[in-house]
Amino acid sequence: MSEWVQGTVIENIHWTQNLFSLRINAPVDDFKAGQFTSLGLDIDGERTARPYSFLSAPGQQPIEFFFYTATDGVLSNAMVALEAGDEIFVKREANGFFTLDEVPSAKTLWLLGTGTGVAPYFSMLKTDEPWQRFERVVLVHAVRQHSDLRYQGLIDELSHEYGARFVFQAFVSREDVNGAIKGRIPEAINSGELERSTGIAITAEDSQLMLCGNPEMVADTTTALKARGLSKNRRRTPGQITVEKYW
Ligand SMILES: Cc1cc2nc3c(=O)[nH]c(=O)nc-3n(C[C@H](O)[C@H](O)[C@H](O)COP(=O)(O)OP(=O)(O)OC[C@H]3O[C@@H](n4cnc5c(N)ncnc54)[C@H](O)[C@@H]3O)c2cc1C
Repeated sequence: MSEWVQGTVIENIHWTQNLFSLRINAPVDDFKAGQFTSLGLDIDGERTARPYSFLSAPGQQPIEFFFYTATDGVLSNAMVALEAGDEIFVKREANGFFTLDEVPSAKTLWLLGTGTGVAPYFSMLKTDEPWQRFERVVLVHAVRQHSDLRYQGLIDELSHEYGARFVFQAFVSREDVNGAIKGRIPEAINSGELERSTGIAITAEDSQLMLCGNPEMVADTTTALKARGLSKNRRRTPGQITVEKYW
């Protein structure tokens, strides 16, 4: 078991009523983009901890996390109250295999996330690896409301730096938003709307897809992709679909 280190909150950004970003200074070990660590607080005398994906790039300080307050969620609701200068526990070692070194090379890398499930992608996109190994990267962010589409500044920077090699596609399920697809990712794969909107085909030959966040999206998108001849990516049997479920 990795040890806890004490982190200091630098900033707690309240984006919306339910969406927050925590910036923390903490002496964590080096990690790979896409990995997660545990954040912990002592609540009623007991250490309560949950896994969170790094949004910041390896080597960056402060480290950054993007979190959603789950209904009656014990830790996420406690983290909302944190202010600059407060302490939070962080596991020194990161974990997980939702990393680009587990993903075979292809022409197009699709990064599909719901809600805070885009966090690991921002960490990856700040590194050189996706840009050295893939011709194009498509980032897909699915949310309920327009105000949930965060980190647009970072998306603009990536567009500016990588031009047509970087494509961003938003999904907003509960509002009409210009440029966003209204609905869910799996349906838009089944109907072909995602490919029409981005102008990029999803094929077993040319595509690698990473799916992160809501387990229903992960399951239904996997089913939609399997129907198109793609398969789960495993170390022994490489495929095109690599997943991380948040619950
Ligand atoms: C590998 C991994 C990485 C994760 N990274 C992140 C991250 O970067 N950001 C993040 O917000 N969460 C992330 N999670 C989820 C996180 O660990 C907690 O489960 C979440 O913050 C709720 O904790 P809680 O104590 O507040 O709620 P609990 O009292 O533990 O309640 C859990 C319930 O909350 C709901 N829930 C959990 N996570 C989310 C979520 N992200 N959005 C909406 N509803 C949710 C589910 O219904 C779940 O059953 C990750 C989970 C895993 C397994």
